[in-house]
Amino acid sequence: MQFNDLAAQYRHLKKEIDAGIASVIEGAHFISGPQVEELERELCAYTGRKYCVSTSNGTDALRMPLMAMGIGPGDAVFVPAFTFYATAEVVSLCGATPVFVDSDPRTFNMSPDSLCAQLEKVKAEGKLTPKGVIAVDLFGLPADFPALSAICGKEGMFLMEDAAQGFGGAIGEKKACAFGDFSATSFFPAKALGCYGDGGAVFTDDEEQAKLLQSIRVHGKGSFKYENVRVGLNARLDTLQAAILLPKLHAFDAENEHRRRAAARYAQRLSGRFVTPYVPEGFSSGFGYYTIVTKDAAERERLQAALKEKGIPTMVYYPCPLHLQKVYAPLGYQRGDLPVSERLTDCVLSLPMHGYITDEEIDAVCDALLEA
Ligand SMILES: *Cc1c(COP(=O)(O)O)cnc(C)c1O
Repeated sequence: MQFNDLAAQYRHLKKEIDAGIASVIEGAHFISGPQVEELERELCAYTGRKYCVSTSNGTDALRMPLMAMGIGPGDAVFVPAFTFYATAEVVSLCGATPVFVDSDPRTFNMSPDSLCAQLEKVKAEGKLTPKGVIAVDLFGLPADFPALSAICGKEGMFLMEDAAQGFGGAIGEKKACAFGDFSATSFFPAKALGCYGDGGAVFTDDEEQAKLLQSIRVHGKGSFKYENVRVGLNARLDTLQAAILLPKLHAFDAENEHRRRAAARYAQRLSGRFVTPYVPEGFSSGFGYYTIVTKDAAERERLQAALKEKGIPTMVYYPCPLHLQKVYAPLGYQRGDLPVSERLTDCVLSLPMHGYITDEEIDAVCDALLEA
């Protein structure tokens, strides 16, 4: 059994993907070819955003809006403690300071109450200027953007959506990648919408910011590539990856539906015995990952070993909260500072989940878990 069966997806989309790859090779327009613009147009239509700037990976997609806004030393950017490192790393890369926020115990996403508490702390200390928030759509569930944008609006802070895991989620009719001033997503192969290498995209509704992002993406170009007006990056999405993403985007809604049905089957069999994913009223999750919570670290270890013995892969996203990572030791956080994130890192376990998983596979995972 595969954790994320990319080969099964390829079998379903082989004709379209092969044709896309062949057309790029025949056209020989490997950088900024027509498929890149086509993908950006389709991603705008899909997400409801005005502008999409595709990028070399999700980390650059998170970093570029910070560069566009001039975030730098002395600035505080609030990020969740329970996420992948890149969410905080981009803040550090800009010379600013990440301020870690605890998780909501039910959704695992950034807790608006903890955000307010951390914001008050930063203000009271008076050393850093609060500039903005990066909230993550963890495991496919959008963060609490109604509450977060009210806080950011009141404080004059930017709000950015880290939608690297968010594609496929929604709040009401509004889709992931459409929340906040900017959204950043990743097309890393393991994500819900993934390419065959690295890729990503930034979304915004602001024309000025979109132009800045396009300049930053190509070495801070001005009116053309060899006029350089600011310090930028080489952060383009390859034409080949765009051509691979187009048929995957066309198949995405069907795969998303499949993941939702798979999640319902998991929940039906596992709830009561394990804490299964909670989706608040009005929200929908893309279930990029299906993550349960075990009683404690020892139970998780036992279950993971039992499943491994049966050939069932599981993953721990993530084993260490960011405020306790070595790289952030100089910031002086202690165990106990963000208790929900700390507990989650001890107890979460992600199960096989993808757009082509079968009922038999789900049942085999559940049988193994319940037996163990
Ligand atoms: C994967 C991921 C990223 C980084 O994306 P890359 O494409 O690997 O650079 C950032 N944030 C979160 C939450 C992610 O899951």
